[in-house]
Amino acid sequence: MAAVPVVLLVEDELSIAEPFSGALMREGFAPVLAGTAADAIRRFEESAPDVVILDVGLPDGDGRDVCRELRRRSTVPIIMLTARGTETDRIVGLELGADDYVVKPFSSGEVIARIRAILRRVTPIAAADGAGVDRQVFGDLVIAPGSRRVRLRGEDLPLSRKEFDLLACLARDAGRVVRREELMSEVWDENWFGSTKTLDVHIGWLRRKLGDDPAAPRYIHTVRGVGFRFAEPEGDGG
Ligand code: CA
Repeated sequence: MAAVPVVLLVEDELSIAEPFSGALMREGFAPVLAGTAADAIRRFEESAPDVVILDVGLPDGDGRDVCRELRRRSTVPIIMLTARGTETDRIVGLELGADDYVVKPFSSGEVIARIRAILRRVTPIAAADGAGVDRQVFGDLVIAPGSRRVRLRGEDLPLSRKEFDLLACLARDAGRVVRREELMSEVWDENWFGSTKTLDVHIGWLRRKLGDDPAAPRYIHTVRGVGFRFAEPEGDGG
């Protein structure tokens, strides 16, 4: 992400767009304005924004169509602006892939707080760590052993120390079966004499946090009586 985050503001009402873009500038963002759906796509391609604020009611189309189109092109965070606060509108907006929505009338401060929250969430591990060093990508799951951070679907996944160690140990040997004894000695202690039930309990917690179904696992596969095998990484792991 650039030092000054670029915010694409798609809003045809100048009485909203002008003061809000002034507030964005004062708060350290670089606003780019678009007043129509067609303009939104063009400006999006030109400015590669860090976040998009998108009005639903545009003169030449529906902001939800713009949202769908942006989603086809990018994972950029999108906050929808809607005058209609009905539950249906909210669900439709989020189903289209918007990250958040704000019901008009809104305060600039409220939307800027949402922008900050979203940018904190989506800042890639590569950017946060400076170099994209040593991260492993397993689809939606990104593990950065150096900074001991894990992201699932773009959000930080809070793990306990043992859970992280266990995940890192499995992921390091992704595609290979890691024996229970190896995991016990590596994550706990070489001189562990207790029950390996602890291992199963932690695997269970880890699976729950990863949203992994033991019956049809995406990440952690049980190899009965032997150990566990982590899913193979995707090609872009470097
Ligand atoms: Ca409008």
